[in-house]
Amino acid sequence: MSEHFIPYGRQWIDDDDVAAVAEALRADWLTQGPTIAEFERAVAARVGAKHGVAFTNGTAALHAACFAAGIGPDDEVITSPITFVASANCALYLGARIAFADIRPDTYCLDPEKLESAITPATKAIVAVDHTGQPCDLDEIRAIAKQHRITLIEDAAHALGATYRGRPVGALSDMTMFSFHPVKHITTGEGGMITTEDDDLARKMRVFRTHGISRDAASMSFDDQAADNVSGVEPRRNPATPAPWYYEMQALGFNYRITDVQCALGLSQLKKLDRSLERRREISLRYTDAFANSRVLVTPYQEPDRESAWHLYVIRLRLEAMAKTRRQVFEDLRHSNIGVNVHYVPVHLQPYFRERFGFTRGDFPEAEAYYDGAITIPLHPTMTDADCERVIDAVVEAVS
Ligand SMILES: *Cc1c(COP(=O)(O)O)cnc(C)c1O
Repeated sequence: MSEHFIPYGRQWIDDDDVAAVAEALRADWLTQGPTIAEFERAVAARVGAKHGVAFTNGTAALHAACFAAGIGPDDEVITSPITFVASANCALYLGARIAFADIRPDTYCLDPEKLESAITPATKAIVAVDHTGQPCDLDEIRAIAKQHRITLIEDAAHALGATYRGRPVGALSDMTMFSFHPVKHITTGEGGMITTEDDDLARKMRVFRTHGISRDAASMSFDDQAADNVSGVEPRRNPATPAPWYYEMQALGFNYRITDVQCALGLSQLKKLDRSLERRREISLRYTDAFANSRVLVTPYQEPDRESAWHLYVIRLRLEAMAKTRRQVFEDLRHSNIGVNVHYVPVHLQPYFRERFGFTRGDFPEAEAYYDGAITIPLHPTMTDADCERVIDAVVEAVS
């Protein structure tokens, strides 16, 4: 096979990105400089949120969001089975239990009715996933969260730049997570961010990402007795005048800090987000047109009141109408150097989740039916028109 491999996703790096990183390398800070806050403000502004808190990666960001939501060992968190394992693991890191609710068969996102019936008195948060880039049923899910007084965390790793009922994804949930892994819309190498409207949640996440340590006088509990050189005196609350060297560890946090160099790349990347979204949309519409008359392919259904950020393009095979298996189609496409993938193996069927929580096949029939026929085909902004045609031709041939 002489034709080049087309991956399912890929970063888009130009000379301006390289120059931005080179400049950051020559600046005074490599790690905790001013570019982090600048990147946080830029992403928050782009999605219409008050705060952005950046992390080493999206998984760390989800962990911090669960921490800020106050999740602990007695709590339960509900997410979708059709997601990356990180959407569930973030709750487990804090000792909580994970539960799932099944997906809608057309959008592949959480079904609000199933979600509502999965809620128990122990439910403390929902991690709602905008799978493939199309926002989930945010108004319905937010209403459920509000009614049950639970925190709504949106996993928007696929949805930077998506809109829901005319509003950008990023300020529609209590906390919204974006990932800057190279296959996502913009990259910092590894990286992630939570956007939120809530001052207190933002403060908690900032403390969590740096060992649980705060230097913010207003949030401190005690001044350092050594500040006054007084021995044998109990520390006392004196937030107005902490000693200049004083810092406080207020919780068990982590080192989840992103770097200035990465955020310089992120700022540069953000400048081409709109072009990237436009190209992703163009390619997706081209695919949907090309497969519209197929009797064996189901193309992605789009709700008219929301605009996907088109992170993934998933085709579903109507296996009952086909002579081939999904595996045969998948392998044929790989042989044609088309970088197909499957997003995702349902989380509840992963051995760790089966063994620890007793989940089994049959628990979430819609998620399993989706999984059985799903194939992700390449979609990224640096694909050429010729690449798209090659993918289309290869898919049409593989399913015939
Ligand atoms: C990429 C991704 C994550 C995790 O992000 P990282 O930055 O890779 O840690 C979480 N959830 C979903 C749905 C993702 O696609």
